[in-house]
Amino acid sequence: MSVNASASVPLWWWTTLAGGLGLAVGSFWTVFVWRWPRGESLVAPRSHCTGCDRTLRPRELVPVGSWLWQRGTCHGCGSRIHWRYPAIEAATALLAAGAIAHFGATPTGAAAALLGMVIVPVVAIDLQHQLIPDVIVLPAAAIGLVLAIVARPGHWWVPVVAAVGAGGFLFVLWLMFPGGMGLGDAKFALLLGGVLGLSVIPAMGIAFGTGALLGVLMIARHGSAARKMAVPFGPFLAAGAVAGLLWGPAMVSWYTTGLN
Ligand SMILES: [Zn+2]
Repeated sequence: MSVNASASVPLWWWTTLAGGLGLAVGSFWTVFVWRWPRGESLVAPRSHCTGCDRTLRPRELVPVGSWLWQRGTCHGCGSRIHWRYPAIEAATALLAAGAIAHFGATPTGAAAALLGMVIVPVVAIDLQHQLIPDVIVLPAAAIGLVLAIVARPGHWWVPVVAAVGAGGFLFVLWLMFPGGMGLGDAKFALLLGGVLGLSVIPAMGIAFGTGALLGVLMIARHGSAARKMAVPFGPFLAAGAVAGLLWGPAMVSWYTTGLN
């Protein structure tokens, strides 16, 4: 074996590995998105049907596949298993594999894969409960920042400033309009800034732009009642993050062309 393993192992192998890791992480997320908002333990009891309490057998724990061959129902009681669970597993795997395919088996790829995998439970929990899980977001923000610094040590201050800037911006908005935005959104923005660097600027622009567009559509449809409807902001930040990962550098360079 050569020491420089990443050079000799083809990218498709790393991409497949990331997809497999994503399936396993996504399988944990399906437990997490149910139990964390309910304050239940993540380790005990073992995974069980929420309809009949039966402990699931190993073949019922296979990510995505078990849902498909059971046709979305429990063997024991026949109750429906929501499509959200295989969707969470598939999305986590796709985002992890996509990040490595796009950025390579590099620190940048690892940071993007981390952000992609964390986005999934954040969106799932925020949509259902209007909460963002600090317990995932804050450690991910720290690891993502370290990976971004390792990726470009000569520009270590870029992800630091982007994280503090994006997190600080939403923190100020939370102070000014406590009803509109959660403190969890500010912590999530910290993660986005650390991983995206300068691309966090177009990412936030897309998040606020699409959020405002939905607000206008809701007011058009529901009138003044729309003002009382709670819309979680996490999914908009997540959409901005994915767009920022894919097109951020291009968008930033359009904007800065002429400035340097
Ligand atoms: Zn059951």
